[in-house]
Formats: sequence, structure tokens, C-alpha cells
Amino acid sequence: MLSGLCLVTPALTLLLLSRQVAKLAQEVEAPRLLLSALYDLSRSTPSQIASGRQSNIDPSICITLSQEDLFRTLRGREIASRFLSTFIVKELEGRRPSHACTRPQNCRMAFECVTFDLLRDVNGLLCNRNSDVLFAIAECAGLLATEGTKTDGRFFVCRWCHAEFCDVVQRARAEVWTSLPTWFNVEADDWGTI
Ligand SMILES: [Zn+2]
Repeated sequence: MLSGLCLVTPALTLLLLSRQVAKLAQEVEAPRLLLSALYDLSRSTPSQIASGRQSNIDPSICITLSQEDLFRTLRGREIASRFLSTFIVKELEGRRPSHACTRPQNCRMAFECVTFDLLRDVNGLLCNRNSDVLFAIAECAGLLATEGTKTDGRFFVCRWCHAEFCDVVQRARAEVWTSLPTWFNVEADDWGTI
């Protein structure tokens, strides 16, 4: 990943690696490993997920997902995508500044800019970052600067709005994390918290 852009070769290598890990996880019955691999795969496009990949070790071998894992990956991807859309509508679009906000006009505009930035890439056409819901939600907070931090091209909000929004982001990411076993239909009882 470079400046939010997926590079073609490493992305394809990662895709192959995730496929191999998913296969291995099935064989050794390691549900947490399987879930991690399926989540990694879900960050790719549906056609990339569905198509097989030649093995780096033996090009005569084409590594594909089982029908069950393919369905799990596409289902998880779809639910994650819907979660992100709902997050944008509920927590970002028209977000009201904190009650303690010291510069409401400015903060409101900053949240609008973050919303616009995210919506620009909602179909993954620019940076493909939105197919990774955990990253995309964290990135919302990452696009904001506040008192005591460098702006570095980010949108400035007061510390009250910043704190409230970071809390929202943290809770949303925790919800995504704990939901992954259900979304991808993998029984991983010891999945843990983020
Ligand atoms: Zn504010």
C-alpha cells in the first residue's frame, strides 16, 4: 500500500497468499486463521475473489477457493460494504458538532469534507480503500486534525468534536471486529476484541 493506493503486483501476491492461507486454515481446522484470510480476500473485487490464481511455486497449480469459502467471502464483503454505507449516513453525513464545540461552523464543514472524501471512493474506484471497512472507518478519524496535532492537509476540528468522533470510530470498529465471524459465517469462538 502506497499513499492509499494498492499496487498491482503486491496486491495480486497478497490475493494468492490469502487464498493459500484459507486453504491451509481449512485443512488444519484453524477458524481464526480462516476468518483472517477470508477478510483479507474480501478487500479485493468480486471477480478477483472468484477467479483462481496460479501458484508461485508450481504454475501448473491453480489455487481457488472452495464454493463454501467463496460464498462466505462474498457474503462478508457485501455485509461489510452495507455497514460502511450505514456508518457514513448515521455518523458522518450532516454530523452535528459537539455541544461543547468552540467553532461549530468550521467543524461542521470539516465533517462534510471527510464525508465527501469518503463518498468519492465509495465504490473503490479511486483507492479501493473502502472495501476494507476497518481501514475506511479508521481513515475517517485519520483525516481529521485537532489542537496539538499537525494539520498536514487534514481537516481541522476542535478537540471536543475530535474526541467525540474518535469515540464513535472506535466503537464502530469494535462492532465490525466482533461481527466478522457472523458476517463471514465462520465459528471462531475465541476471536477476541479489537
Ligand atoms: Zn467542534
